[in-house]
Amino acid sequence: MSQHNSVTITDVEAAAKRLAGVAHRTPVLTSRTVNDRTNAQVFFKCENFQRTGSFKFRGAYNALSQLSEEQKQKGVLTFSSGNHAQATALAGQLLNIPITIAMPEDAPAVKLSATRGYGGEVVLYNRKQTNREELAQTLLTERGGVMIPPYDHPHIVAGQGTAAKELIEEVGELDLLLVCCGGGGLLSGSAIATKAVLPKCRVIGVEPELADDATRSFHTKTLQTVNNPETIADGARTPYLGKITLPLVLHYVDDMVTVSEEAILRTMFFLWERLKIVIEPTGVLAAAALLEGVVKVPGARVGVIISGGNVDLGKVGQLFLN
Ligand SMILES: *Cc1c(COP(=O)(O)O)cnc(C)c1O
Repeated sequence: MSQHNSVTITDVEAAAKRLAGVAHRTPVLTSRTVNDRTNAQVFFKCENFQRTGSFKFRGAYNALSQLSEEQKQKGVLTFSSGNHAQATALAGQLLNIPITIAMPEDAPAVKLSATRGYGGEVVLYNRKQTNREELAQTLLTERGGVMIPPYDHPHIVAGQGTAAKELIEEVGELDLLLVCCGGGGLLSGSAIATKAVLPKCRVIGVEPELADDATRSFHTKTLQTVNNPETIADGARTPYLGKITLPLVLHYVDDMVTVSEEAILRTMFFLWERLKIVIEPTGVLAAAALLEGVVKVPGARVGVIISGGNVDLGKVGQLFLN
């Protein structure tokens, strides 16, 4: 399995051109407190400020804008625990493409209502009883159209890589880039974008301990899976890396680490308090690896991708009481 050329830096650069003027160039934040605590110089690329509240808009728009006129008319189908749903719905609205999305019925209410708000048609399913890919396939057979999956697609990976590209354009040299990992679209895109311009910069992927399939896949070099993990990081509940993302992660990524549920909660709290920005549980994974000392890099310049900010604020109090 050496298919690591399905996406290249040329694809990321082309995606950046398509996204120019459509996606936000999100801010990079720094914090003296964070630098002191980690003994490093840390740059947060804040994709919680991206359109629809996560980096997923980058990949979705990059993929949808490359469909043929005929494909655009037939519409797009996808499945998502939330952020890819909103991203695809908005991209569809902007490009005039009808969108159908299979979403788990326990997806955060903010994500469900935002997806419907952008005009996406939502089909709910029970994630304990239904395999979402099979369901999506059934819907595809019934309705026709193109399937755009949340991570295992070269145009998605290329689009996701544009966030790291912007970060490096803005801050220059980095010794390390930390990126969260679900299905590996953001991680592989970020690693491709980084290694092309900063070959010495290490790229480390971060997962929840409870959903550590990619970390095990990375270390064993064969695909490992996890079954319906109960992590609060709902964007990282994906059961396995994809056919496209596994070889890319194996080729471009330097290491993979995991963080505990407690570390995720402590980091959410800390970053809300210190950076004054709303970040969802999955969005703090990369930061948690650094702030909790799982990854130690004294004196280094470190990029951290904050991947999203879509969290049910009404339910957040409960998270911190448990
Ligand atoms: C989808 C998502 C992830 C994981 O991205 P993958 O490309 O599946 O690895 C991480 N954080 C947020 C906020 C997401 O929406």
